[in-house]
Amino acid sequence: MNLFGSSATGAARGAAKAAADAGHEIFDLTAGEIWSDIAPNVREGALSAINRGINRYSDAIGLGELREAIAKKLTLETHQSWSAGEVAVTTGAKQALFNAAMALLNPGDEVIIPAPYWSTFPAQVLIAGATPVFVQTRASGFCPKIEDIQSAVTPRTRAIVINTPNNPTGAVYGRDALLEIGRFAVEHSLWLIFDECYADFTHNGTAHHSLVSLLPELRPRLVIVNAFSKSLALTGWRIGYLAGPADIISAARALQSHTTSNPNIIAQHAVLAHLRSDDQTFQDGLRTRLSIARDVGLTVLRGLRHVPVPTADGAFYFYLDLAGLLRPAVPEGPRKTASDVSDFLLARAGVATVAGTAFGDPLGLRISYGVPADMLVVALTRLVEALNTWK
Ligand code: PLP
Repeated sequence: MNLFGSSATGAARGAAKAAADAGHEIFDLTAGEIWSDIAPNVREGALSAINRGINRYSDAIGLGELREAIAKKLTLETHQSWSAGEVAVTTGAKQALFNAAMALLNPGDEVIIPAPYWSTFPAQVLIAGATPVFVQTRASGFCPKIEDIQSAVTPRTRAIVINTPNNPTGAVYGRDALLEIGRFAVEHSLWLIFDECYADFTHNGTAHHSLVSLLPELRPRLVIVNAFSKSLALTGWRIGYLAGPADIISAARALQSHTTSNPNIIAQHAVLAHLRSDDQTFQDGLRTRLSIARDVGLTVLRGLRHVPVPTADGAFYFYLDLAGLLRPAVPEGPRKTASDVSDFLLARAGVATVAGTAFGDPLGLRISYGVPADMLVVALTRLVEALNTWK
């Protein structure tokens, strides 16, 4: 347990809450979730399950009907055929990733993770007894260069974790970059863990590509991880999934049968009702709303004097590059980090953000724009005013 701490985003949220509890006006832009209503078909699916008296265990990896519905969704998304035997329903994407780590990794294995990274990736690799190996992406637009992945490979490398659209950077990996990484994994017989939790949220003319649709030969070495947490704004309901070769799914079933058993049964029925309804209205609305929030937010962020306006191609994060702001006045002078900036913003402007330190990047700052629009504008205006006074 000494190898890793608890989630750093959770800690940032905790600091914001503590400041609010102490009576300060706080604008919390830390959360990796969207403030939203529940989709009507999800709500009705849950209520109907309760009214039908559904209360028993399902298969540890989820209802057969739900796994079939997810396989159908994957078939549409990847243009390849998927069956329920290649899908496990999990308690959020986090459990899907955990299953993948436990099923694939042995102590001593190494896993390549592009940095900045979502902090659960390395934590779970460590839990499995393996070692995370980071590949820096700051100099290449937050998308890893194949040469850097190549240099990180050793005989112990077992897997690469790819997350696009990316948390925390908002980068969306292009088709060619994905193909290169996928081919590299095939050539070197590596597993590829492909986290596409933010697939629904791409902006600025970018598009999300499901890697297996570009490179079908990767399929025997690919684990797809996704959830309804972000796409349906259902973070608290805890329904995710992994898709991959049948033996990985069997391993996930064995693991889940001894850890959590099935994901919450009412939430499973709710998501099943949504998938069966074939109604995308809610998701489309969410996408439009986030796209508007992104534009509005960027307009405010253009007022930043010492920090470049972020690209923000995907997910719902602005990732500020503080390298210029934090450059010491004299080269050998003390260097402050994003954590100092985050603390300053909370104290000075009442705006809570997540320092990139949590993501292996002391020069970045993550701002979530999944909050209500009026709050976003006020919070970002305060943030810009404060950052422009930073010395
Ligand atoms: N993967 C990424 C990249 C995430 O950012 C998150 C949550 O923030 C997750 C997985 C976990 O999602 P869930 O809430 O479905 O467990």
